[in-house]
Formats: sequence, C-alpha cells, structure tokens
Amino acid sequence: MSVFSSNDFDGHEAVVFHNDPASGLKAIVGIHNTNLGPALGGCRMWPYETEDEAITDVLRLSKGMTYKAALAGLDYGGGKAVIIGDPRTEKTEALLRAMGRFVQTFAGRYQTAEDVGMTVGDMDVLRKETPYAHGISNGSGNPSPATAFGVYRGIVAAFRHRFGSPDLAGRTVAVQGVGSVGITLCRYLMEAGVELIVADIDPDRVRAAQETCGATAVAIDDIHRAEADVFAPCALGAVVNDRTVNEIQAEIVAGSANNQLAEARHGAILHDRGILYTPDYVINAGGLIDVAAEGPDYNSQAVLERVAGIEETLVRIFARAEKEGAAPETIADRMAEERFLGAIREAA
Ligand code: NAD
Repeated sequence: MSVFSSNDFDGHEAVVFHNDPASGLKAIVGIHNTNLGPALGGCRMWPYETEDEAITDVLRLSKGMTYKAALAGLDYGGGKAVIIGDPRTEKTEALLRAMGRFVQTFAGRYQTAEDVGMTVGDMDVLRKETPYAHGISNGSGNPSPATAFGVYRGIVAAFRHRFGSPDLAGRTVAVQGVGSVGITLCRYLMEAGVELIVADIDPDRVRAAQETCGATAVAIDDIHRAEADVFAPCALGAVVNDRTVNEIQAEIVAGSANNQLAEARHGAILHDRGILYTPDYVINAGGLIDVAAEGPDYNSQAVLERVAGIEETLVRIFARAEKEGAAPETIADRMAEERFLGAIREAA
C-alpha cells in the first residue's frame, strides 16, 4: 500500500516505520500536523491482519488528534503510534522498551501516551527510554476520570443549548458501556439528579452501576433506543449506523466513544431528525487535556478546571451550527481547522 496516494492521506507531515528484530517490534508513527506544537497522541497495540490496516489506522488516528488538540485549546499537534501485534500475547518489556527508543528518535516532535492495548504500566516502561511517554503512574496516570468529567460538562452544554438550562435534575441518560469512563460519568450524572439507564456486555459492570448509581439495566441491543433525553455511547465506535440511527429516541447524543458516527452521513441523518449530536472528539478530549498537563507542575484540580472548558467550546459550536444551518460536527471540524491552519498564517 502506498501512503501518499492513500484515501486517508491528508497532507501528513511524516509516517515513519520502525522494525526492531531483537524484540519483534513493528511500529508506525504518523505525524499529521505540528503547526500548534509537537504531535501528541496515544500508542495503540492491535493485531492488525494486514499492514494496510495499520497504515490506515495511523493516518486516520493521527489526523483526528490534530483536530482534537486544536479544539481542546492545546498547543499540541496531532500524532499517533501503532504497534502491530497482539497485546495479550506479544507485549514484552523488551518490545515496550524498543518502542520507547523509537519514540525517543523523534526528540519530542512526537509524544506518546496509552491507547487501546496499552496501559499506564506500559507507559512507565516506555518512560525508561524516553521522557516523551506520558500518562505514567506517578504523573497524570489514568485519563478516564478527566474524560468522564469532560463528557459530563459536554452533556450540560447540550442541555443549555437544547433546553435553555444546565439543570439535569429529573432527566434521563442512557449510558452504553459502564467501563472506566461510563461508570464515572454515571456518578457525576447521579449527583446531578439524573435517572440512569445502562447496558454493558459485562454483567459485573452493570451490577456495579445498579448498586452504586441506582441505574436501570436494559439489553445491549436496546440501549440506543431507550426512552431518554440523552444517549451516551461510552463503549464502541460506529454505534450511530444504518441499523440504529432511526431508532434513537433521545434528543441528544453525547458520550465518550471515539468515532461514534459510522459514516458522516449518519451525522446528517441525526441533524435532519433534530437530534443534537455532540462531536465525539470535542466532548472526549478530557483525557488528552490531562495527559498534556503532565510534568513537574501537574495539578489534577487545575486539569479539571481546564476540562470544564469543553462546555463553553461546545456551546460555541452548537450556536454557530444553528446560525450556519450546519451539523455540529461540520462546524467543529471548521473551527479546528481555523485554529491549526490559522497558526501558520499568524506565524508567517
Ligand atoms: P473501557 O474498556 O473501560 O469500557 C468500555 C465498556 O464498554 C466496558 O465495560 C465493556 O464491557 C463495554 N462494552 C463493550 N462492548 C459493548 C457493547 N456492545 N454494548 C455495551 N457495552 C459494551 O473503556 P473506557 O476507557 O471507559 O472508554 C470508553 C470509550 O471512550 C472507548 O470508545 C474509548 O475509546 C473512548 N475514550 C476513552 C478515553 C479515556 O480516557 N479512557 C478517552 C477518549 C475516548
């Protein structure tokens, strides 16, 4: 597969392949854009069946990080790393250290953190080889609490726009997936007086949500069509798809999952149905804001104050979308581009 002529190539600054025969590491780093600052984005380990799949992933994910950092107000660009391999069977200390040395070759132009298939403990191992591995255990650690807080504030933004009030008391939110982010989101919502409906493939997690948050459980195939004010996808991507898009009852779709729209046209269908979609990479940026704050002055309270800014960003996106008659995700992309492309014009 060629890179420059790939459909997912979008003027990326660099795509670098790395092979370390001693540890078996095969990895790719994609740097999409560094106008605003060094490229920051997680390292994913996944058993890609083909190299093409890995290249596609690194191109798409690194581009997504440019947009996410730009709208989170961070002075970082977009990058991502993928390791080709099964994290359950092929992850060794030697492989992780080799990955750390690969990250170090960028001398800070690409900086990494955990992603699917990687843990905070794995970042600690990378950190032995490079200062550019973030989200370590004695640093910002697990980003999920910050992500959940951002999603909560994003739901408040959607309420302000849709109902003219930030008051969530007595409203109902259907949360799909009560893992690290979902369960913390449930706690914030419960404290705000929200009735919760949840679904998860893991019965223990459903039970925890019932016991700690008084949630009502429904089947996983029914959660998207639950009678609720908000549908909050916090499990998988592509959950707004041909099968589900016309069944969603909620007036708002707002959750942490990445790439919630299977295709852009599903966002257009939500928009036509009058359902307010909260662009995923804007509402779920809390974890990135947390990781970006890591360093000697790290302060979790200051991070949460910054994450709270997601609410105002979304309110601006919704207002502009309404004014311009466009879907919120279209406006979010435009605003992100205005920032990271504008950075070059300002510097010129
Ligand atoms: P997690 O693995 O802790 O939780 C996901 C939960 O979803 C699990 O409990 C799992 O059992 C459940 N699940 C899986 N398939 C399901 C299905 N079909 N129906 C219902 N439940 C299902 O992950 P997380 O860290 O909580 O992240 C949740 C989502 O948010 C992911 O899409 C992730 O990419 C995204 N996200 C997370 C962060 C973060 O800081 N953790 C940041 C940005 C985006």
